[in-house]
Amino acid sequence: MLAEKYLRDAMMPHIWCPGCGHGIIVHAVLRAIDQLGLDQDKTVIVSGIGCSSRAAGYMNFDTLHTTHGRALAFATGVKMAKPELNVIVLTGDGDSVAIGGNHFIHACRRNIDITTIIFNNSIYGMTSGQYSPMTPQGSYATTMPFGNLDRNFDLCELAKGAGATYVARGTAYHAAMLTNLIKKGIENKGFSVVEAISQCPTYFGRRNRMGGPVDMLNWQKEHAVTAAAAAKLSPEQLAGKFVIGELHASEAPEFSEEYRKVVASLQGKE
Ligand code: SF4
Ligand code: MG
Repeated sequence: MLAEKYLRDAMMPHIWCPGCGHGIIVHAVLRAIDQLGLDQDKTVIVSGIGCSSRAAGYMNFDTLHTTHGRALAFATGVKMAKPELNVIVLTGDGDSVAIGGNHFIHACRRNIDITTIIFNNSIYGMTSGQYSPMTPQGSYATTMPFGNLDRNFDLCELAKGAGATYVARGTAYHAAMLTNLIKKGIENKGFSVVEAISQCPTYFGRRNRMGGPVDMLNWQKEHAVTAAAAAKLSPEQLAGKFVIGELHASEAPEFSEEYRKVVASLQGKE
């Protein structure tokens, strides 16, 4: 039923590989939108470039499939022009924090009311497996054939440090939890970041000998620790694991509203 209501039949079949995690994440986004009862005509989906960014084209909303790394710049324009719209950005790890990194930190800093879901598969999938700022150190990629020398970002710490007012991490495996995290992100009046860990069996999984899609989903299950459980564990016990759940929530003035107040005062309306 969700597919009938929210997917563009004419755009099927999608381009994703069998076993890719991106479809699971899109489903979580659609469940969140449906459960919140968002108006389909007042919800805009914006994406950049990459496997995950193809999602915007498949979804039956007003959608913008933009240029590489610039989804947040376009989304900012939409929100500033029409603040009554729900603006959701779907982006990948390469798109959002490599070429789009500067847009990302400044959107966090501004606290503009946009929900960004980052499909983190630790690699550039669409362009055949180059390493991204989220490829773990030591992992293999087309452009790091002897193991990645770079340290990866902690996306959620980056978002929190830059000023985002809602930050959470989920996985394709924990799909029901992911839906709830996305719902909370949409409800937050400010900039929300939900990192959704996804599996790319075709490039990341194969090159790193992680097995098939089911093995990769099991890897997510086995390495994720909920925020509540993590609070009771030592750094040694958490080594090699990652924390899922709501990681940060705070309040700050929302940019589009503050901007409008200035405009109203200059026009003598306030
Ligand atoms: Fe998914 Fe990877 Fe295939 Fe892209 S290349 S569709 S991320 S499995
Ligand atoms: Mg990626």
